[in-house]
Amino acid sequence: MTAPNAETLTRPEAIATDVPVPPVRTVTYLFLTGTWVAANVRSSSEKNIKIPYEVAFDGVIQDRAPDWPRRIIGGTAFTIRVPVGVEVSLFLNTDSLVGARMHPVYAVTPDENDVHVTIRETRGARLETLAEAVLARTAVDERSGRRIDYYDAPLHGNIWARISRVYTSEAAAETLPADADAAIRDAVVSIYRGLDRAQLEIQIGNPPVQTISATFVDSENPRVNISNYSFLRDGLPRVHPLGFFALLDAARVAGATVVNLTSCWRPSLGSIAHRAGIGLDVNIIADDAGSVRINRSELIGGMPTPWVSDAEPHLHRRRGEDRGAWTAEVERNKPPLFQAFRSALEASQHVRQIFDPWYLDANSRDEVPATYNEQNNANAMLHNNHLHITLNIPELL
Ligand SMILES: [Zn+2]
Repeated sequence: MTAPNAETLTRPEAIATDVPVPPVRTVTYLFLTGTWVAANVRSSSEKNIKIPYEVAFDGVIQDRAPDWPRRIIGGTAFTIRVPVGVEVSLFLNTDSLVGARMHPVYAVTPDENDVHVTIRETRGARLETLAEAVLARTAVDERSGRRIDYYDAPLHGNIWARISRVYTSEAAAETLPADADAAIRDAVVSIYRGLDRAQLEIQIGNPPVQTISATFVDSENPRVNISNYSFLRDGLPRVHPLGFFALLDAARVAGATVVNLTSCWRPSLGSIAHRAGIGLDVNIIADDAGSVRINRSELIGGMPTPWVSDAEPHLHRRRGEDRGAWTAEVERNKPPLFQAFRSALEASQHVRQIFDPWYLDANSRDEVPATYNEQNNANAMLHNNHLHITLNIPELL
């Protein structure tokens, strides 16, 4: 027996009440990220972190509704409309990319009521809790008068690790450009096979014309925020292969013999770049002429380096009156190896941002030149003692 058709059984003016329309609920997600940042800090890359995401209904990725944000933003609620009884879940960070999407998180299935999920990010505590929404209470929203089921959920280092893609050596080999230098390619791919020590000796050319000793330096943040963390097994393979490629290839082009990579992937610190494995830092490069510590913090009272002359701090303070005198002094003492390394990064189509003690460039792919690092704001001061690159991966940045 076929079901009666509402349209044939009702008068036109009554159709609206008789046609069966699946009821729709709203599901709101609020990410309270960087909860360790002081309350009086209005904007921060942690509190207002931008997280790449996809939404799934019953496990199926949904097309973007026009009112959905480009990124989930920490501290800003985000609402999805969903038919009753359909499970909503999120794919976050690098787990949102095509080819990843392994670990849906914060699933909820609205029934009688609308749903509001609050995700609180913490550091170093209760790392065993899962990326699951737990019903905390049901209450009537005073503004809308609607009943809402309020859920709570955690976000911490182990969950960041879960939503951060681990690249295999096969994926790395596929990702690297076809015309990559053979030795650099082999070195990068070997990182994803699993290194037995945090160092690579890369022989360029056959017979070798250049040897690059690359050292990878572990950091505190993943160690205290991830259970049973191993730098070589869990940290390095979460870095996008093009990150290691861009830095090691720039070292090759610059003729460097040593490069120190100090911060690779990490879960619970800074902007999305390092958490998505597309931000990397370098603090030392060297060639046969000597070692360059990438540091100009002396300008504002930090460690002395040869790249800040005795005259420069005074010229820096007077740069409002005579900018040319200051920038000429900056250029006069700049190590050629650093300039060669930075120029190679600037020329790389895989790199989008370069922040270092000499220059700041929020978009190295556009025509706007880098500006001098005046060490006069948070981003400028943060980068007065290392070089940072962010990869050019539009799906993530
Ligand atoms: Zn960085």
